Order: sequence, then structure tokens, then C-alpha cells
Amino acid sequence: LSWCKKSYIQLCTIPNVKTTLAVSSGKGGVGKSTTAVNLAVALQLAGLKVGLLDADVYGPNIPQMLGLGQTDVQVIDTPNGQRFLPLEAFGIKVMSVGLLAERDRPLAWRGPVLHKIITQFIHEVEWGELDYLLIDLPPGTGDAQITIVQESPVCGAIVVTTPQQIAISDVRRSIHMFCQVGVPVLGIIENMSYLIGTHGESIPIFGSGGGQQLAAELNTPLLGQIPLDPDVCTGSDTGKPIATAISNSPVNQVFLQIAGAI
Ligand code: ADP
Repeated sequence: LSWCKKSYIQLCTIPNVKTTLAVSSGKGGVGKSTTAVNLAVALQLAGLKVGLLDADVYGPNIPQMLGLGQTDVQVIDTPNGQRFLPLEAFGIKVMSVGLLAERDRPLAWRGPVLHKIITQFIHEVEWGELDYLLIDLPPGTGDAQITIVQESPVCGAIVVTTPQQIAISDVRRSIHMFCQVGVPVLGIIENMSYLIGTHGESIPIFGSGGGQQLAAELNTPLLGQIPLDPDVCTGSDTGKPIATAISNSPVNQVFLQIAGAI
């Protein structure tokens, strides 16, 4: 990845947005959106101004995870023309393809349609001043992901995986995609790393060492290992991400640690 890291400092061209980071995964279901939401909350709790763009066109779940339900996006007039007004939850500015009214959603997210929507979502949103804009990408390495990454002024990417070997081989592809488009990978987050047993012991449900092995192989940091915890799931389903509950739970500690590392 050494050549990839040369492009580390890229100019972020969204006015007033300091850093734009993509949150991605090699495959679906590894907890990418959950991680993006809780990381956004952890950054916000650290006193930073945070925006979250849900660009997961195949499964835009972020509004539900933040308790925003079916709220419609407002369009406002500004001196620079019409702009989408992001919604707000837990102090985070949120925009999602899931917030588009049904009639505005394309049946197929093909290149030109994606290009138009993503460009609008990035450049025609009244984000205001942000320290971080996190972009939740669709899983995988297809056309949709490449279009979004190329259309967005992304400064770096974070890749979420589980420790399972099958997930790991997909992550390699994902990291190579970012290198090909010149986006540096800031690190890997391993989710569902272990379950905490009744006696406090770690139970590696999906195997262990995958994230560490990959981080070493690709010379990129392992930013954190998030335990498997039913409260994470409940938090997402009820629209109250676990990181919003100020507690010393191991899950919250890991999100705070990752927020401090990026
Ligand atoms: P992806 O965005 O990768 O498709 P999601 O974030 O939607 O994945 O997560 C998939 C499912 O796994 C959801 O039901 C979510 O609540 C659950 N989940 C994610 N991370 C954890 C975790 N650390 N502990 C328990 N459940 C989790």
C-alpha cells in the first residue's frame, strides 16, 4: 500500500467540511452501517461537528438506526441556489438515499443516476461547518462503490470486516479498489470480534486474528475490535445507537478509541 499512502492528504472540496471519510466493507452484514453510526456518535461526543451521508443505495438503514423514520428531506433556498437541508439526530447531520421519497428513488442504481444523486447529496446539501463527514458506502467493490468514491472528495477510507476468513478475502478486494482510485485506507475495523461470556471471558464466535493478519499483510492499522453485543443490535433497531448511552461498556470504549485514532 505504500504508493497508495502517498495521496494521503487530498483536498476535500466540500466547502466548510474538513475531512471526508468513506466507511466501507467487502461484503454485506458485517456491521458497516452500525459502525458508521456509532463512530459518528463517538466523534460527536468528542466535541467534533459530524455529518453522516448514507450512500448505501442497496440498504439505506441509517435513518432507522438514528430514529429518523420516514421523515422527508426539506429543500431550502440559499444564496447559492436550492439545497437539501440535512436532518439531525444526536447532534449529527444526516442525509440518506433512504430519505428520498419513494417516487424519487430510481429502480436501478446505474452509473449516470448514481452519479447525479451522489453529486447532489455531496455538493447540494447544506452541511454547514463539519469536522468530519462520514460516507456509508454500499458493500462490495462494484460500479456503485467506484462511482461514489470517484464522485466524492474522499480523504480516506475505513474498512469494516468480521474476523471470518471469507470476509477477510473480500476486504482485500475492497482495499485494492481504494488503491486503484487513489484513496488511502486509514485502517481496518474488526467487528463482531468476540462475545463476552458470563465470566468476562472472550469467545471468538467468528474465529480470531483475521483483522490483525490483514492489517499486518497490508501494512495498515487495525483501528479497533468491536465485540458482538446484543445491545448493539437493540440500539440500532430502536434508533438509539449504543454509543449514545454514555457507559463504560467494552463496545463504547472501542468506539471512543477508534474516534481518537482517526
Ligand atoms: P452492514 O451495514 O455491513 O450490512 P449492519 O450494520 O446493517 O451491516 O449490521 C448487520 C446486523 O448485525 C444488524 O442487525 C446489526 O444490528 C448487527 N450488528 C452489527 N454489529 C454488531 C455487534 N457488534 N454486535 C451485535 N450485533 C451487531
